[in-house]
Amino acid sequence: MKHVCGDTHLVSCELNGVLQGKHILEGSNLLLKMRKDKEDIKPVAANELPPEFKKFDKPFGLEQHVFNSIFGGYITHGCMLLCFLYLYPFGIVSPWSIIPSIMYGYIGGLGITVGCHRYWTHKTFKANRPMQVLLMLMQTVSMQYPIFKWCRDHRVHHKYTDTNADPHSAARGFWFSHITWLFQPKHPEVEEKLKIIDISDLARDPIVRFQSKYYWEIFSVVFYIIPMLLFKWMYPDLTLFQNFILQHTRYGVSLHFTFLVNSVAHMWGDKPYDKDITSSENSLVSLFAVGEGWHNYHHTFPWDYKTAEFGYKINFSTMFIHFFAMIGWAYDLKTVSHKLLVDRINRTGDGSHPLFNHNHDHTNNNDSKQSETSLPTWGWGDKNLNKEDVVITETLYKSKRRG
Ligand SMILES: [Zn+2]
Ligand SMILES: [Zn+2]
Repeated sequence: MKHVCGDTHLVSCELNGVLQGKHILEGSNLLLKMRKDKEDIKPVAANELPPEFKKFDKPFGLEQHVFNSIFGGYITHGCMLLCFLYLYPFGIVSPWSIIPSIMYGYIGGLGITVGCHRYWTHKTFKANRPMQVLLMLMQTVSMQYPIFKWCRDHRVHHKYTDTNADPHSAARGFWFSHITWLFQPKHPEVEEKLKIIDISDLARDPIVRFQSKYYWEIFSVVFYIIPMLLFKWMYPDLTLFQNFILQHTRYGVSLHFTFLVNSVAHMWGDKPYDKDITSSENSLVSLFAVGEGWHNYHHTFPWDYKTAEFGYKINFSTMFIHFFAMIGWAYDLKTVSHKLLVDRINRTGDGSHPLFNHNHDHTNNNDSKQSETSLPTWGWGDKNLNKEDVVITETLYKSKRRG
């Protein structure tokens, strides 16, 4: 059995209204149990992690979800309400300030998509030191916690998608996967998997460790001081409080754009590459999330630097990587070969892809070989990545430099 939540089961769950989440969750837990038997990840003891990482278990002495609720919940959403219901409509602050807000928000967005996601989590390309520093600073603008923390959550999401061990499982409902997972204690199975997921590469990375060590200092500069000085220079009448509100509004909007990937792109859209997973192709999400809405492709081939089949189709993050590849800062870009792509579309796709061969014999497909014998992969360097897939993966902008 490839996936316990097959189409028929999903349809019946939808008909059952409020029972939908419960049913999928039960199925998901069964899937998790099946996976447990096959699990062979070497546990990384908590005391093996660098001290810089451990201090983020309780930011400012608060439980993580409590800190999230105060900073990301009450303060940020309160600021957004004040901005959109008072400052802008009543002309207290120039509505044109939305333009620098979007531009600065984009810097943080690319820090997440290119830096945290494609570079550090999935290792889809290599970057020289200046680019690593640049991506680290951009990632800090987004205030989605240090790189190691984001990547650890995301690797667990890929390994245990839609089970109780998925930090933002879409099986637990739209709002849970979108934002409320941050405001409640983690499920014990998430805690368990966070302890064993392999992040040894991040623990060795000097830039990741430096960022964790000086996170709040760097954050203060790039999240508050620089943009607030910039906004004050552009709009001299702005008070300190109004400026603060604008920064948190910029932050809140970019957060929701990022979260669309976890909620909307796990619920609505085609599944041309793998019909048995919840992640879907969603162009609207790609528009808001700087190119990360091609989520069926991404969960099927998480080691591809484009996170999509078509590099430039609503995918500014890919253009950004190409620019840095052209000047030599990014190199060894991993991408899926045409053969692997077509083969997969025909074996597991939902038939929506133009390359899908409707006359192909699907009764005897053996795609389940990876899912049935091991956990899904989180990206390049994960030992669950199929060896045959590694061999036929293509590398662009090859370099002999060590990354
Ligand atoms: Zn990913
Ligand atoms: Zn996902």
